[in-house]
Amino acid sequence: MFVFKAAVVGAGTMGGEIAQVIAAADVPVVLKDIKQEFVDAGLEKAREVTKSQFDKLVAKEKITQEQADARLEEVMGQITGTLDYSEFGDVDFVVEAAPEKMEIKQAVFAELDAVTPGHAILASNTSSLSITEMGDATLRRDKVVGFHFFFPASVMPLLEIVEGEETSGETVQAASNFAQTIRKQPITCAEVPGFVVNRILNSAVGELWRAQEEQGLSIQKIDAKVAEKQLAPMGPFFLTDMLGLDTVLHVAEHLNESYGDSFYVHQGMKRLVADGHFGAKSGGDGFYKDGEPQLEGDGEPSDELIETFSLKALVEACLLLEEGVASARDIDLGMMAGAGLDPRRGLFPPFMKADLEGLDVVLEKLERAKDEYGERFEPPRVLRRLVAQGRVGQKFGQGFYPYPQPDEGDQTDTVKLETRGDVAIAWLANPPMNAISPQVIKDLGTAWERLKSAGEVRAMLIASSIPVVFSAGADIKAFGQMDEASGAELIHTGHSLLREFGSDGIATVAAVNALAFGGGCELAMACDFRIAAESATFGQPEVKLGIIPGFGGTQRLPRLVGPEKALEMNLIGDAVSSEEAEAYGLANRVVPDHELFDAAFSWARRLAGQAPLAVEQIKTVSNKGDLDEGIEAEKEAFAKAFLSEDAKEGISAFLGKRTAKWRGK
Ligand code: NAD
Repeated sequence: MFVFKAAVVGAGTMGGEIAQVIAAADVPVVLKDIKQEFVDAGLEKAREVTKSQFDKLVAKEKITQEQADARLEEVMGQITGTLDYSEFGDVDFVVEAAPEKMEIKQAVFAELDAVTPGHAILASNTSSLSITEMGDATLRRDKVVGFHFFFPASVMPLLEIVEGEETSGETVQAASNFAQTIRKQPITCAEVPGFVVNRILNSAVGELWRAQEEQGLSIQKIDAKVAEKQLAPMGPFFLTDMLGLDTVLHVAEHLNESYGDSFYVHQGMKRLVADGHFGAKSGGDGFYKDGEPQLEGDGEPSDELIETFSLKALVEACLLLEEGVASARDIDLGMMAGAGLDPRRGLFPPFMKADLEGLDVVLEKLERAKDEYGERFEPPRVLRRLVAQGRVGQKFGQGFYPYPQPDEGDQTDTVKLETRGDVAIAWLANPPMNAISPQVIKDLGTAWERLKSAGEVRAMLIASSIPVVFSAGADIKAFGQMDEASGAELIHTGHSLLREFGSDGIATVAAVNALAFGGGCELAMACDFRIAAESATFGQPEVKLGIIPGFGGTQRLPRLVGPEKALEMNLIGDAVSSEEAEAYGLANRVVPDHELFDAAFSWARRLAGQAPLAVEQIKTVSNKGDLDEGIEAEKEAFAKAFLSEDAKEGISAFLGKRTAKWRGK
């Protein structure tokens, strides 16, 4: 499923900006509403947002005013405003952003089903309604999916891809790929009220709302303390003013109806909305007026009370995990990209935060909170289980995520070696994206030599020390800076090393926790086995940059998944999910995110227990064939592609976040 043209239905608060996001990625988009004035307002919003984005680039002297003006017209030229469906006959992806009423949504979906090609994906930006029910209005239930942007859509990086009961895996993956095309961060989740981010946020914020009303606390003091304690980028009352009290109340009531009293609805907010105070979003007052609180109460919240915010967020995050709604990595990533919990600013999403604090400590706090506030703080089973296993977080090397505990003595910069009996773990540690740089290749080589010379290691596990990525691929900037001879030498060294991973008596296993693209995917493929987390995605996107895989991607991929599938992945360049990877034979097993390290480690342990000579011979003989010839051919082809004009253009377009223009040279 490829998107050459998209459409947005509804040009209101969300629709205008969604069309802008699509157009800014150079995808033509039709923007439809029911009245010309609404279409015009949507177009105006798109122009305003685009202009302000380019103004910022001009101010930073990244582009000239002339370039900014030209780009503005180019982006706006991609958007066609309309009142009817005459432009919908060739769209591939529709985002419905009409009012939040099921009758309207179903009417729109039935119309879309009749006017768009059968292959088109029909997505809804709904915050709370059932995707399955919208699908029921169509003859393509498998191609109906949630595509939930956050307000304001042009700024917020998160997109929740919501799977209805009938949505196919292919649709979810295509929606995820389209999200990346329009430069958003997708997470996938099942269809439950509030999805991931609104459910966790409302559950947590509700505790502070409740305490404010029950104890007459000052909203200003609550907001200040939340920010001071770094629980969220801003306090809950201030945030609600920004998002709009009417919108927040609607979501809060919906979640309260769906999940019960564990989700509190602030009664003061209800009164403010009834009196027409919707907050700063609509230019008026809300919880605050000219910076002054509009609710009574001047009590000071205790530190312990403020902490119920993150305790409740963790409970809700665990419930999502236990219900199979989303994976641990997607839940944390959702809270990072959708709720502004940015670890670089000391703000941590639920699982990372719990791991840092210690799961045993958090469990105790939850037990106390349960005694004090009731059942809604019941410690989740997945938390109890991890504590029972001794996996109590970062200090012990494993909690919701695994953490390196490198061996004492010398360590390289980008690969940390940890030995546990006869298994060694080579931790990729090259933040932020574990790019495979020349240094990483060198450091992997050093780690490999060290573990071989230690003499006791029988299996090596390659794992990522970064929870949200395995490896995003080769460090193209660093490779681009090398001269031809040293580049060729490095590729040769890299290949020899990867070849050894697949032929040595030491068994090799890759624990693929998340994105494994390009060189990252090739590194995983060079290992004997790949154990993947649910959140893992695999891809060889080099072709999009005008280059080709350079570390065995054209050779090992066909051997693993068959020539046809490999050609598809290498020529199209889109990512495949862990589920697809397992079905194709690229991943040996797929396990829940928080069980990945244990699962991969147990494979490594098992392999370490086999006779080393037999392991070596089986690997060597199984690999007999023309791989070396193939690799020689790939080296030559890679050099040709990498030194081409198109490669320069592709890489510079990728770095400059623009669409490449190929010349075939
Ligand atoms: P809005 O009321 O601002 O805009 C809806 C637009 O749809 C209006 O311009 C309306 O004229 C138009 N419309 C109505 N019927 C139509 C039809 N049959 N065909 C075409 N257009 C039609 O609403 P909004 O805030 O932009 O919300 C849209 C959707 O996005 C809702 O499902 C909402 O839940 C969701 N959402 C909203 C926010 C938010 O903060 N506003 C955030 C995330 C998701």
